[in-house]
Amino acid sequence: MSTLAIDIGGTKLAAALIDPQQQLIDRHVLPTPASRTPEALREALRSLVAPFAGQAQRVAVASTGIIRHGILTALNPDNLGGLAQFPLVDTLAQLTGLPCLAVNDAQAAAWAEYRALLGDIRDMAFITVSTGVGGGIISHGKLLTGRHGMAGHIGHTLADPHGPLCGCGRRGCVEAIASGRGISAQAVDALHGMTAKEIYALHQQGHPQATCLIERSAQTVARLIADLKASYDCECVVLGGSVGLAEGYLSLVAGYLAREPAAYHTHLVAAHHQHDAGLLGAAMLAEEDII
Ligand code: ADP
Repeated sequence: MSTLAIDIGGTKLAAALIDPQQQLIDRHVLPTPASRTPEALREALRSLVAPFAGQAQRVAVASTGIIRHGILTALNPDNLGGLAQFPLVDTLAQLTGLPCLAVNDAQAAAWAEYRALLGDIRDMAFITVSTGVGGGIISHGKLLTGRHGMAGHIGHTLADPHGPLCGCGRRGCVEAIASGRGISAQAVDALHGMTAKEIYALHQQGHPQATCLIERSAQTVARLIADLKASYDCECVVLGGSVGLAEGYLSLVAGYLAREPAAYHTHLVAAHHQHDAGLLGAAMLAEEDII
């Protein structure tokens, strides 16, 4: 059975056809609509799925936010342009006429990355440092989603009680400091208004404020990894997202993790599927009847 996989992120929407051998055949990307209306997201999804008409037998969606009973609820509404609730499964079922399943994007990516690991690893965490900071937890070989869909939202664990206010309403979440949106929001003076991508490029040129922001992000993620190790003894952490996969970022995180006591160290690797982990994971979870 071919699956139309869709990934809804804070900055981009992606869709791809995944064949029964879990090969990604075709991929289309659109920017996430900046408008705060459900209509704008519905229209963007309509354009996204149009080129795939008649090619798939089901739809599997990986989306930022909490997915419960097919409804998307943004834990941090800033990441979806203020969209708090959206009937994701019903909308895509209507647009395509196909059965539709939905799961959180980082949970989906965690599953694809877990499947790509070599060796007998049972406990793994996936962290995406992207517009927000998302996570997916594999424990005893099983993906944790939680009764309310909240499992793995580790970007909303506390990094600094005096840190910036997070879009979720808490102060000092990992996401508010380490994410692309967080990096950009903390920039001042000449860097004010720049995207994380622009700030990262300046960091690579040695700009002191840019480097300070990127290092703070990496250090915050390293502390999160140490906390995960302490929480459930994860054997491996996989890093993804455009910030997480930016050149040199993983080494920075590894450097900060190495400064923690040895008991908190764990194996750290870049996402095998790079930016396609969410799409592939959603299709795999649908294929394996896990979501
Ligand atoms: P999404 O959040 O939609 O899943 P991404 O994983 O691409 O998308 O994350 C988007 C964030 O990553 C934005 O804050 C953007 O500025 C930042 N970003 C994109 N490309 C890069 C890059 N090459 N280096 C550093 N940051 C990047």
